[in-house]
Amino acid sequence: MMKQYHQAKEACGDALLLFRMGDFYELFYKDAEIASEKLGLTLTSRDKGENAIAMAGFPHHQVDAYLAKLVQFGIRVAICEQVEDARKAIGLVKREITRVVTPGTITDEELLNPQANNFLAAFCRDSKTGMNGLAWLEISTGEFWTTQLPGNELEDLITRIQPSEILVSESENIDAIEFQFEAAVTRVPDWSFNLKIALEKLHSQFKVSDLAGFGIEAEQSLAVRSAGSIIQYVFETQQNSLDHIDRLRPYSVGSFLEIDQATWRSLEISSTLRSHSRTGSLLDVIDHTVTSMGARQLFQWLTRPLVCDQKINLRQQAIDELVTKSPVRRKIRDFLKGIHDIQRLVARISTGRVSPRDLSYVERSLGRLPGIQKTLEPATSELLQEINGQIDPCFEFQDELKTALVDEPPPHTREGGFIRDGFNQELDKLRDLASGGKQWIAEYQAKISEESGIGALKVGFNKVFGYYLEVTHTHRDKVPDYFIRKQTLKNAERYITPELKEYEETVLSATEKSEQLEFELFEQLRQTAARYLLKLKSNAQLLARLDVLAGLAELAEQRNYCRPEVVHENVLTIDEGRHPVLDILQPSGAFIPNDTSLSDEDKCLMLITGPNMAGKSTYIRQVALITLLAQIGSFVPAKSARIGIADRIFARVGASDELSKGQSTFMVEMTETARILNNASNRSLVILDEIGRGTSTYDGVSLAWAIVEYLHDQIACRTLFATHYHELTELENSLPALCNYNVEVKEWQDEIVFMHKIVPGAADRSYGIHVARIAGVPESVNHRAEKILNQLQTSEGSEVVIRSESGPNANGEIQLTLFGPTTHPLVEKIQRLDTNHVSPMDALNLISEWKAELGEDQTATPVGENSGN
Ligand code: ADP
Repeated sequence: MMKQYHQAKEACGDALLLFRMGDFYELFYKDAEIASEKLGLTLTSRDKGENAIAMAGFPHHQVDAYLAKLVQFGIRVAICEQVEDARKAIGLVKREITRVVTPGTITDEELLNPQANNFLAAFCRDSKTGMNGLAWLEISTGEFWTTQLPGNELEDLITRIQPSEILVSESENIDAIEFQFEAAVTRVPDWSFNLKIALEKLHSQFKVSDLAGFGIEAEQSLAVRSAGSIIQYVFETQQNSLDHIDRLRPYSVGSFLEIDQATWRSLEISSTLRSHSRTGSLLDVIDHTVTSMGARQLFQWLTRPLVCDQKINLRQQAIDELVTKSPVRRKIRDFLKGIHDIQRLVARISTGRVSPRDLSYVERSLGRLPGIQKTLEPATSELLQEINGQIDPCFEFQDELKTALVDEPPPHTREGGFIRDGFNQELDKLRDLASGGKQWIAEYQAKISEESGIGALKVGFNKVFGYYLEVTHTHRDKVPDYFIRKQTLKNAERYITPELKEYEETVLSATEKSEQLEFELFEQLRQTAARYLLKLKSNAQLLARLDVLAGLAELAEQRNYCRPEVVHENVLTIDEGRHPVLDILQPSGAFIPNDTSLSDEDKCLMLITGPNMAGKSTYIRQVALITLLAQIGSFVPAKSARIGIADRIFARVGASDELSKGQSTFMVEMTETARILNNASNRSLVILDEIGRGTSTYDGVSLAWAIVEYLHDQIACRTLFATHYHELTELENSLPALCNYNVEVKEWQDEIVFMHKIVPGAADRSYGIHVARIAGVPESVNHRAEKILNQLQTSEGSEVVIRSESGPNANGEIQLTLFGPTTHPLVEKIQRLDTNHVSPMDALNLISEWKAELGEDQTATPVGENSGN
């Protein structure tokens, strides 16, 4: 058997091997150690002494739970099953690897997050040109994309796709890539990225002779090679048909609104900066979908916002109609609620892992489609009409499933009981026989009991000797001669009779045959389902889109969003805009709306000053989020909006969490700023918050100043620049497209109140100490800070001398050299000295006094010779 194990282990490469032995999955050697560490399994050993082999295992029915954990650790797992009935096997039971489960190829419902995509990606590189190929596939839905792009855009795209596994060829040096893959990296042989092999794989998968029909050109060899390696890998790990993967889509950078990864994180689009959770993100608050297909589709829309006004308008029209016709929307959402995850069911049909329960879910879901069609019938918007026209309830298939399957089928085919009575005559007959046999046995028990006078005679069944008669010891002397004793228990004896055995045969063989027949009938059903695969897949996509549209309409109505006008001009006019997340998190009406007005014909750069906590970053983020929402076709949280389509959104907001990656906050800030300045075009939207905060005041102001000038003069894109440096407000005098704004603050009885209102003009001061007070900094510190501030402000750039309150030094004072050049006290003394009224002796004494004041070192060092020795 260990020979068999080693063969399997060799075949599965570096995957962990789960080796089926009876009712257990066992792991050996290093695999056992890994499993014991990751899964907390007890490590035992097979054989003793020198031949001892590390071993760990778990009962077969717990496989899903353990697989889920292993996959979460990014571990690939091969499952080696017993492929013949152990009772019928001659010699060793035959075993084969039936599948390899890897983070990127799972299709099991239990292992997948219904709301999130699970992509498998493949990456290759041309080191001469610096170009990269990236393809990504979600095997559970068949969504398959490929592209090629320069190195600096790779990380952004990968961050947005968030693959769980990346295939890289064995010889690729990924350490040379500037960032680290967060996904599990799987090495595959170099040949699987070979262009010729990749083309062959793709052609045969899609049954085409050329990829041009998908919009993929011959010269995009990196894109083709990546896609080919994915198909090769999926084929190997699934060992099943993959008919639901029927299309490869080219992803071209520029055909969508680009959002780099820093912006994606700063804007908290799919997870929050602080807790990295979906809750509290933009996606979380705008997601009103009712199916998991819809939830995933919405995420996809966010990762690929549109740049074409016509396409945006089509979505808007549909949402508009669903907002106005709320009964239609409600009805559609009710129908959708009963629809299962057809996308993932399709993948299970395709990979041969569909269960009777899955097919009944398909049937129930299809059953809802006519209702949706009827409700959408009067729709006037183009997109709704298109969706309605393409939905296909597959009536024949629905009928077949309905007549074939029982109402509540089990989730597996192990024990039968899923085919409906009346569906197949042969099955009905076998079932009658089996249940008739059971009936006969019941009657037989009554008969024998009466004949023998053993009242307590029982019929039982076990796997070892089938049906038996059980008689307690008290009745032992009444047992007839023809009873054959089989087993003695503490209180009873078990017997069989020839008659009982005969019927047992009938019952057991009828049961076995009926289960076998059920299995065959199910297989036929599965094959029928496979023929409907593409129709089901198309339905799933249509329903996902419909769900997103209806969900966005629901959001628009619930939160009072408006339909923005989208245009191809560099404008941004928002009337009473709100932050989509804070608007929901704050009590109703508490969020203060704000306006925005930017245009490249007039003012396109807003410089926003104001104290911390006033609402600057909230405001600039809200403008970016409104733009993003508009470009996915959604309505936006505002009274009205006119939004010029942006080619990219750049956000640099707040300190991010890169510290853990070993970079200083300031370095990260500057790297991100560099990226913005190097990549923004005049069609981009840039939001920058507190640039320069991570360095000294002078450095910070100077950098912020120069960056504003560059954005204004060189890029001239729509920009919102929030800062606490008042000095920058002077730029309004020299930069014509810049306009100062500040966040209104009211003072009341020495307290300040943040009005969260963005108003024209520059802020007059920063209120930092007020904020410290609100934050609970000890009052003595605030008080002291106020005193220092007063001294700083009155000194106006000349020397500032502040009396130390924590005990005087030699001079009883400390020197602060914050602003302006400072003068040494000795210089002052010299200046004050009236030389006309000092005797030579006094002058000499004074000089030695000053020398003493300067300290020993200086007295010992002649002027001009203190350096260079
Ligand atoms: P800043 O960037 O100026 O330091 P933030 O944008 O972080 O300030 O806002 C601080 C807090 O003020 C937010 O967490 C929020 O609670 C509140 N806030 C901001 N803007 C608004 C608004 N428009 N309406 C109501 N509350 C707001």
